[in-house]
Amino acid sequence: MSTQLAINGGPKSVNKQFPWPVFDQQEVDAVAEVVASGKWGNPDCGDLVEKFEKEFATYCGSKYAITCVNGSVSLRLALIACGVKPGDEIIVPPYTFITTASSVIECNCVPVFVDIDPETYNMDPSQIEAAITERTKAIIPVHFGGLACDMEAIMAIAKKHGLRVIEDAAHAHGAEYKGKKLGSIGDVGSFSFQSSKNLTSGEGGIVVTDDDELYAMMHSLRNVGRIEGGQWYDHYNPGCNYRITQMQAVLLSHQLKRLESQTKRRNENGIFLNELLKDIEGITPLSRNEDITLHCYHIYIFKYDSTKFAGLSKDRFAEMLVAEGVPSFRGYPHPLYKQPLFQNQNFMCYAIPETADYSQVFLPVAEQACSTEAVWILQHAMLGEKEDMEAFASAIVKIQQAQSL
Ligand SMILES: *Cc1c(COP(=O)(O)O)cnc(C)c1O
Repeated sequence: MSTQLAINGGPKSVNKQFPWPVFDQQEVDAVAEVVASGKWGNPDCGDLVEKFEKEFATYCGSKYAITCVNGSVSLRLALIACGVKPGDEIIVPPYTFITTASSVIECNCVPVFVDIDPETYNMDPSQIEAAITERTKAIIPVHFGGLACDMEAIMAIAKKHGLRVIEDAAHAHGAEYKGKKLGSIGDVGSFSFQSSKNLTSGEGGIVVTDDDELYAMMHSLRNVGRIEGGQWYDHYNPGCNYRITQMQAVLLSHQLKRLESQTKRRNENGIFLNELLKDIEGITPLSRNEDITLHCYHIYIFKYDSTKFAGLSKDRFAEMLVAEGVPSFRGYPHPLYKQPLFQNQNFMCYAIPETADYSQVFLPVAEQACSTEAVWILQHAMLGEKEDMEAFASAIVKIQQAQSL
């Protein structure tokens, strides 16, 4: 094998494209058919949205599912339906996409960050209770990368303190914890169908729940505050038009048929890649225990130790890995609380107290993950063949060997 790195003009370790989204003529025909029908939007214009909602609820093992425009609005619907009031505190992790926390701000509530576990990068349940105050109303665990949070511990804490649990499952379509689909364990599960996600219609989102009241409220909020059985011009709740189109719904119905086999493929590749990478000094895959019955690897994450790469920075390592042809990324540069939104307290809401000050927040595990440790391989690459996983591992070894020359 050549040791000339691709970043310096050498041959790439991986010479393959990993297409995403995955689709064929079925999807093209299905969308074309809806377009030709002229029935593009709900309500009173076809039943494809409801059909997909039933399919997704059944898939998750939940009683109800309600689609909406994206996986950020879905969090907002869940929070409002859970009865949060201005100034309430919501517990969130710092290692996640912005809207896990900014949806809390949009509800005029205060995100309280709890650090992640260094073995899983998910919210550390042993640190949650110290963050609970009399204002705390809910916990939003994020199944980061598709790896299930310790839901047993989180649900027990929520029960003890009378808190709601909203699972941010935007990375976790089809993944499981102790045989249960993620999203179906808390009061509400929230998913995104944005184009990078494991189930996609370009944009879109959905919430699932077993609770009749939460269902009725989220359904109403999604539909401009209308209620089921009510009149078109009667609005009861402060919602908005968050509905999706029939074109999105039909696309999702077809994509959902592919999800189970794609998830199993990523899960198997992830287990195989764990075996390959654990033998490379300075590379440690995140750990998964026996509770993780199915991992969907929206992101395959490993921890990088620069001291085993002659001091090569994580950012430079990640650039080299991309150049070698591995669909990968250095991950978030900073924990969420470092974002200007939080540092500048740019909340535009009097209900969020001045004491919601993030300038002194420092959560060491999230800081380390962002600055020096976490490297991501993206989900579409995890749909590859076994030999692709071998090529990813070889690319890492190649970079390591080039540092010792
Ligand atoms: C993508 C994502 C969201 C938001 O979904 P959108 O559909 O892009 O609005 C929320 N939470 C997490 C963890 C995400 O990755």
